[in-house]
Amino acid sequence: MDCLFCKIIAGEIPSTKVYENEYVYAFRDINPQAPVHVLVIPKTHIASADEVTPENSAAVTHVFEAIPAVAKACGLTNGYRVITNVGEDGCQSVKHIHFHLLGGKQLPETMA
Ligand code: AMP
Ligand code: ZN
Repeated sequence: MDCLFCKIIAGEIPSTKVYENEYVYAFRDINPQAPVHVLVIPKTHIASADEVTPENSAAVTHVFEAIPAVAKACGLTNGYRVITNVGEDGCQSVKHIHFHLLGGKQLPETMA
């Protein structure tokens, strides 16, 4: 499958890893929008939040179970934001579900 994030998980494309377990990989966003900007992804391919089903939702659970450890690894002791963009209107550019973990400063209250 021609998926950028599957290739990052496979080590075929380099990334700056901040956390990894059996189910989840987390790495620095190449174009950070905050002092800390990490992408947390499941190792199994799901295209977006719009493709989550009862059959594959455990992958998303694993991501959220890992997020506190990822945040800790990034030194986020005062809170953070988790965002997932979906489809055209959500400006999703990579079609492998990913959760932006943003922090390191107080983030703006509005997003849209
Ligand atoms: P989205 O726009 O929600 O699909 O987010 C995709 C994110 O992936 C963007 O924030 C990009 O900066 C980031 N990105 C794209 N290519 C890479 C890469 N090779 N390594 C790390 N982050 C990337
Ligand atoms: Zn993928």
